[in-house]
Amino acid sequence: TAHRKKLGYLAYSPDLEQDIASRYALLSDLRSALSGQNLYLELQPKVRLSDGKLLGFEALARWKLPNGDQIPPSQFIPLAETSGLIGRLDQTILLQSCQALHVLKAAGIEVPIAFNVSSSELIQPRFFNRMLALIREAGIRPDQLELEITETQAVEDYTRISPNLRKLIALGMKVSIDDFGIGYSSLSHITDLAATTLKIDKSFIDRLGHSQADEQVVEMILRLGECFGFSIIAEGIETEEQRTALASRGCLQGQGYLFARPMPLPQAIEWARAQTA
Ligand code: C2E
Ligand code: CA
Ligand code: CA
Ligand code: CA
Repeated sequence: TAHRKKLGYLAYSPDLEQDIASRYALLSDLRSALSGQNLYLELQPKVRLSDGKLLGFEALARWKLPNGDQIPPSQFIPLAETSGLIGRLDQTILLQSCQALHVLKAAGIEVPIAFNVSSSELIQPRFFNRMLALIREAGIRPDQLELEITETQAVEDYTRISPNLRKLIALGMKVSIDDFGIGYSSLSHITDLAATTLKIDKSFIDRLGHSQADEQVVEMILRLGECFGFSIIAEGIETEEQRTALASRGCLQGQGYLFARPMPLPQAIEWARAQTA
């Protein structure tokens, strides 16, 4: 079933009843993970394309079951979204990002950390105040953080989330539209998009050098950045050819396995230190 496809690790379930029971078990596992140590972050560097210099990190959620099995975000993020747990999950990762900022600073590394927020959370009117309280309590300035929101499919969503985003930008927080180019992006909305940064979706980067159409889309997004004052970053850069193709078109920032994979905090610190050594 579609259900089974989405939760691929339940494929052993002999029947639907078992399937539902497993889903409940996994949900209760997710609930307890949210109050324990099994839900944690890894950090992936964002770099300057010209020389690979560290510009910041993105926090990515990781979930380890008590038996040690790792469940990928592609499976637990949708589960958290459909079960109403995504708000708590996002907050857990944001809190850990704030703690990581303190550890990084103590290690002499002062770059912002980007965290991901589900658009269903940003729509909540209370989102802004709750988030502000959380980062103040953690002793973090808004400009040490960057919010990443996936480009939403719905036009109305933008009018509902924009006020929250604008307030954050006014406080110095950067706001990135993640996976830009594959979702909803009408040109009439781009002019008042409440964002500082557009993150070009990996699917376009994958086809650089193979598809002229995709190269033109990338060029168009870079032009949009110039015209409307967005910074542009490319995600999912895996090859030197992709880096060169982007840099030669004027893209300044990137992220991808070519530079570094997401890493636990201690390795991220080592990675950053090796750069300056
Ligand atoms: P995303 O925000 O677009 O994050 C980028 C994903 O691409 C990450 O997958 C990252 O590990 C992977 N990636 C980075 N560079 C490369 C590359 O060069 N090649 C390839 N093949 N992959 C690369 P990950 O960690 O599995 O996360 C998947 C998605 O789950 C994220 O996509 C994001 O939408 C969501 N997610 C992760 N953490 C959170 C969170 O704390 N809150 C929310 N709401 N969503 C999250
Ligand atoms: Ca992201
Ligand atoms: Ca992305
Ligand atoms: Ca993507």
